[in-house]
Amino acid sequence: GLCLRHVSSTRQTSPIQRRSLNQFISRESSWFVVQQHDQPAREQRQFRLAVKDNIATVSPNSEEETPLTTTCGSNFLANYRSPFEATIVTQLRSRGALLVGKTNLDEFGMGSHSVHTAFGAVAQEGEHEQQAVKHSAGGSSGGSAVAVATGEADLALGTDTGGSVRLPAAYTGVVGFKPSYGMLSRYGVVPYANSLDTVGLLAKEVRPIAELILGGADKVTRGLWAEHDPLDPTSLSHGARRRCASQRDCYTGPLPKDPYPLKNLKFGLPLEYNITELSPSIRHSWSVAAAKLQSLGARLVPVSLPSTRHALSAYYVIAPAEASSNLAKYDGIRYGTRFTPPTESDAAVSEGPEGREEEEGILYARARTAGFGDEVKRRILLGAYTLSSAAMDNYFLKAQKVRRLVRRDFNRVFALPNPLLDKPERFELSELPETVGLEDKWGPTEVDFLLCPTAPTTAPRLDEVLSEEKKDPVSAYMNDVFTVPASLAGLPAISVPMRVEDKEGAGMAGLQLIGQYWDDARLLAVAETIA
Ligand code: GLN
Repeated sequence: GLCLRHVSSTRQTSPIQRRSLNQFISRESSWFVVQQHDQPAREQRQFRLAVKDNIATVSPNSEEETPLTTTCGSNFLANYRSPFEATIVTQLRSRGALLVGKTNLDEFGMGSHSVHTAFGAVAQEGEHEQQAVKHSAGGSSGGSAVAVATGEADLALGTDTGGSVRLPAAYTGVVGFKPSYGMLSRYGVVPYANSLDTVGLLAKEVRPIAELILGGADKVTRGLWAEHDPLDPTSLSHGARRRCASQRDCYTGPLPKDPYPLKNLKFGLPLEYNITELSPSIRHSWSVAAAKLQSLGARLVPVSLPSTRHALSAYYVIAPAEASSNLAKYDGIRYGTRFTPPTESDAAVSEGPEGREEEEGILYARARTAGFGDEVKRRILLGAYTLSSAAMDNYFLKAQKVRRLVRRDFNRVFALPNPLLDKPERFELSELPETVGLEDKWGPTEVDFLLCPTAPTTAPRLDEVLSEEKKDPVSAYMNDVFTVPASLAGLPAISVPMRVEDKEGAGMAGLQLIGQYWDDARLLAVAETIA
């Protein structure tokens, strides 16, 4: 798979260059073993980190090395070198990260299979040469997921706007964590849809992710949950972080070493997630997982999230609307590649004398035509349409309403209140749709976590994905049906590997846990017990 791209690779060379990777990683380095030289005072464990290529990086591991590009998988930024580094990368370096490469993605994070990229689709190779059928690695953080699944990185950074960390994790059989909105800094992360974007982490197991978020077993290093970033206006303030954490378990004290006790926990099974598109083998594994939790002492209850059925459509209105606005700045003059050598008239345009609108328009059109891929263009058109005055009320504003309903659904089913609400919301039984037919059984639904699949199917074959894209480009949007609700509500969610058996044999899928806002610490502890 084309998962890792190193600084010296150009578009003609293979994105995985083991030799050049070894320039800056020691062969012995693996998760938590090597002593870091510039930190003699305290033992610093090191790990190999892969970074999704929409997250700004400067030089790999020392200032002498050639600066890395940050391409977003786009022709527009193929040669872009960021002058600064994303806060999250700096934070991970100070916790022992050695950068091993930037990872391929759907252009600007837009996609579910990592096929919409200027650098060639990411592929998940079959385990045995004989059955070398390539499968989708999921998207848009597909490269990050493959880097972890193949063991080329111990930890990878991704971004999750509507599922882009959780879906690739599910398809490749690794762990993918999307934190509460506002927890991890997005400074230096190229925005896709600002009201939804989060930075997420991928690893083979939950523990390394939990240690980074919560601060390690010894709590010597500060957990990322406590780090406010003044450079990111959506990063929660120190005060808000403390307030939120004081209403939650597991933020203080050592990470639970033993399995987290599931005895007093209540898990909700969202009825609306049992859709016809759900593959029978995943439905089966989901109920096996639920039964296993029950045998460990947890309580399982059905819950209703009636707005779920509209969440996907709302997401695909809101995300492209924000994207169309974010991408407006790529004009080939101030941002992005120009694509043709500047002509005399272009020079006149950049100097900005009046009356050059026509040339300016031609310049923009030329750059944007060559710079953006088809999926990005589709999103820009969609977004520009739903924001236009004639369509605004019917699409953008309706989608915002649905988003509020999705949030309310979650707040109704969780036992813990949402710390961002001043006063708790009130709910009436009569608000539940009659079709649910739960009214008589409807006790207090207050659950600790929701338990559901991450995606309706296992990883599809790559050739099928590519031919489907041609026939029906929006069909891939369906893969996000179980991940977008938590994104719309800003809630923490994690995908842990779940084995499935079907006609073709055993495969991997994801089991998703969703928690109330800022319940990330307990979510991670419980996920570790379940995984
Ligand atoms: N597949 C979704 C989309 O294309 C999610 C992408 C993401 O989370 N970055 O918008």
